[in-house]
Amino acid sequence: MKGNMTAMRDRTAWLKGGKARCKLPAQRQPRPKRLILLGAPGIGKGTQAQLLCEQLGACHLSTGDVFRASKCLQPGERSPALETALEYMARGDLVPDEIVLGMVRERIRCLRCQGGFLLDGFPRTVAQAETLSDVLGELDLSLDAVVSYELPLEQIVARLSGRRTCPNCNATFHVVALPSRVEGICDHCGGKLYQREDDRPEAIRVRLRAYEKSTAPLIDFYRQRGLLIVIEAGASPEETFQRTLAALTTKGRAP
Ligand code: AMP
Repeated sequence: MKGNMTAMRDRTAWLKGGKARCKLPAQRQPRPKRLILLGAPGIGKGTQAQLLCEQLGACHLSTGDVFRASKCLQPGERSPALETALEYMARGDLVPDEIVLGMVRERIRCLRCQGGFLLDGFPRTVAQAETLSDVLGELDLSLDAVVSYELPLEQIVARLSGRRTCPNCNATFHVVALPSRVEGICDHCGGKLYQREDDRPEAIRVRLRAYEKSTAPLIDFYRQRGLLIVIEAGASPEETFQRTLAALTTKGRAP
């Protein structure tokens, strides 16, 4: 779904890091929300992130997007740490904590964004979560909630294995839920749709097991801190979004 959505707000500071500034900074929110989204690959987290950012005026801080954006740089422009990160990413492995944390620290001012933030893909391990809470403590900021989207494994496999991607413009479709107008052809640019290697059922199961192993402990970490909201993600994207908003509102009112 990611490829079919409208343009995202400016995230130059996050994507480029260093001294880069957003050309159109997020608007100051009266009560900026600071959230983390958790969820297995294919659960629709990217779609929810975008809907939530539009609704809340927050900035979408995805660590995966930073690594993908760095692929567009010339090899000489990438730091050694980023080069290493891209090697891990290409193998489908998690990037080592120290590289991810260094990258986030370099973008620390994005955590102070006046619109609030929505972290997506970070933290992914308990060590990352612990560092994040130290960093937020140093900035005198706190999280409002951690939203975890959940769905039985077989439903995620069915969702991901039906995904078809355009090699030219990266738009994604789904053979059942979001078919292209002409079977196998991209609606946007006429490219020939294909199934990504890692969207085949066996590869999906491997990715989901990796997610379970590294990220499931985070669920306990945030539950113990009273921040966790669990959302069942089997409904339509709009319905899931409405459930998320309702849960956030209820949490906001909790004593
Ligand atoms: P994502 O778009 O969040 O699925 O991330 C894509 C890839 O980037 C992952 O498969 C990892 O290789 C890497 N990555 C992104 N965020 C992290 C993180 N917080 N910790 C470790 N690796 C990450």
